Amino acid sequence: MKKSLLLTLCASVLMSVATPAVSAKQEEGQWAELPVATLEEGRALTEDLSLVNENQAKYVFLFIGDGMGNIPVSAAEYYLGPDNGNDGNGTAEAQPLNFSQFPVIGLQNPTDADHYVPDSAATATAFGNGVKIDSNVIGLTPGFTEQTESVAEKAKNEGKAVGILSTVTLNHATPAAFYSNVEHRNNYYEIGEQMAKSGFDYFAGGSLGRRTGDNDDQTDLYEVMEENGYTVADTMEEIEAITAETGPVYAPTPDDQLAGGAMKYALDAEEGDITLADHVAKGIEVLSANENGFFMMTESGKIDWAEHANDAAATINEVIDFQNAIQEAVDFYYENPDETLIVVTADHPTGGFTIGNSETGYDSYFHLIDEQTVSQEKFDAQFAVALEENPEMTFEDAVPLLEESFGFIFEDLEATEEVKTYAQLEEEDEQEAQDPMVITPYELEELKYAFEQSKLPSEERNAGQGDIAKGYHAYEPLSIASTRLVARKAGFAFTTVDHSPERVPVYAIGSGAAMFEGNFENIDIAYKLLAAMGLYEGGDTTAPQITVTGKAGSEEAATEEEATEESATEEESAE
Ligand SMILES: [Zn+2]
Repeated sequence: MKKSLLLTLCASVLMSVATPAVSAKQEEGQWAELPVATLEEGRALTEDLSLVNENQAKYVFLFIGDGMGNIPVSAAEYYLGPDNGNDGNGTAEAQPLNFSQFPVIGLQNPTDADHYVPDSAATATAFGNGVKIDSNVIGLTPGFTEQTESVAEKAKNEGKAVGILSTVTLNHATPAAFYSNVEHRNNYYEIGEQMAKSGFDYFAGGSLGRRTGDNDDQTDLYEVMEENGYTVADTMEEIEAITAETGPVYAPTPDDQLAGGAMKYALDAEEGDITLADHVAKGIEVLSANENGFFMMTESGKIDWAEHANDAAATINEVIDFQNAIQEAVDFYYENPDETLIVVTADHPTGGFTIGNSETGYDSYFHLIDEQTVSQEKFDAQFAVALEENPEMTFEDAVPLLEESFGFIFEDLEATEEVKTYAQLEEEDEQEAQDPMVITPYELEELKYAFEQSKLPSEERNAGQGDIAKGYHAYEPLSIASTRLVARKAGFAFTTVDHSPERVPVYAIGSGAAMFEGNFENIDIAYKLLAAMGLYEGGDTTAPQITVTGKAGSEEAATEEEATEESATEEESAE
C-alpha cells in the first residue's frame, strides 16, 4: 500500500519535471519578468554530481549547526538577499549559503527515544554514535548497559587524526558525545576528564564548563588536560604558534574573547577576535598532517542559544558566521575533491523560530535586524551594570540603552495601551507609513511591563501561564521582550524557548555524499559517516537498527520496533 503510494508520488513528481519549461503564461508574456534563469541555475547546481564521488573519504568534516533547522538557514539567506525589506514591490530573492548549494540534500528525524522534542545530548549520541537514547544521556546504550563508540573514536582507532571544535564549551552535550559516555549531560567535570583521556588530536573553540568541579574543589580541567599530554593554548600567541608538530592540543579562545566560557556571539565580536573559521583553519593545518586523514566535528553551538533566547538578529549572524567556518572546509575540498567529505546538519530546530507572523503578514522587513547592535547576552550584561549603578532606574532611564541596542524609536513615552479596530488600522494604513521601529502604544506597554519584571527578583516574575509573550523563563525579561519585538517587526517569530522536533536538513558534498540523500533517522548519519570512511562494520546489506527505549517490555514497544524495522528495510530496498 505504502509502496504504491510512493510510486504514484514519484510518477507525479516525474510528470511535473517533464512539463515543458515554458508555460502558457510565460508564452503570453505575463511572467516575462520572472527570474527564471536564477531558478534554473540553482537547479543545475544542485544536480552537479561531479561534486559527488564514491571514493573512500580520507578527510571528513561534520558540521553541526546546533538548532539550525530549515528556518535559520532560510532566514539568513533571505536576510542576505538583495531586497531584504520586501513588501511586495521588490524581488524576493535569497542569497544561498555555501552549504545549501551542496549537491546532496537529505532530511533527518531528530527525535529522541523518549521525547519528540529532543535535546542535544541524545541527538549528538544519535548522529555521533548511531544509538537512539533518552534525552540527557551521552554515549550509552539504552538502560546504560554499554558505552557506545563514536564515529570519532572509530576514526581515531583506525589511525586518523581527530578534531572536535565548538563555539560553546567543549564539555557541552554535542562535542561531548564524540568522546564521552555519561548518564547525564550535566556531569561536566566527568565529561572534561574523559575529554582529557580521549587521545584526540585537536580541540578548539570554547572553554570548559565547571572547570574545577561542581563544588570548585577539583583540579582545574586545563591542568587535567596537560597531565594527559595536551598543550593548552589559550592566548592569541599560543594559538598562532600551534603547528602539526605541537602534538595533542586544546585551543580555547582567549578569556577576553569569551562570554561565560563560550565564544562571543558573532554579533558581538570585535575586530581581532578569533573566529570559528580561524579555529577550523588551524584544525585543518594540524590534522591534515596525518597520512591517514582526519575526522573533524565542528559545532556552532550558539545558533541554538540565540534561538533559545528568541534573538533573531544573533541567530542569523551566527548562521552566517558558521557559513564562514564551513568555507574553510569547502576550500580544502576544492584542493582535495577526490577524498574529502563535508556533511552539514543540525541536531534539532530551536525556538520554534518562524519566518512570518500575523503582524507583518505577507510583507517582510528582514533588514530591521540590523537595527539590533548587540545580542541579548551582551544587552543583559550592559543592563545589569546599568541597574547596579542605578537601582532606582525608571523605564525612562532605560530608554537610551534600548534605543542604542535595538534601534527602537520612542515617540511618546506616555502613550497607553491601545487596541485598534479594523477600521482604525485601515485608516492608519492609508496615512503615510511610519518608521517600523517606532514603538506603538501596545509595544510600549509590553516593554514597560518587561522592564518592571526585570526589576523583580527572578522567583517573583510572571511565569507566563496563559500569556506566552510574558513568559520570560530564565531570561532577563526586558532583554527577551526586546529581541522578540525586533524579530516580530522584521517578520520573524518564536513560539518557544525550547527545542522542536521537525526534520532537519542534511547537506553533503564530496566522497560518499550520495548516501546522505533521502529521508532518514539521525542515527543513520553515524552509519553513513562510517561507511564513507570505509569503517562501517554492519555490512552493506544490513540496515542500522533503531533502538527504542523507555517502553521496554511493553507491547507497544514491540510493535513500534517491528514497524521501524519494516520501514528501514523498505527504505533500503528503495535505494
Ligand atoms: Zn538547545
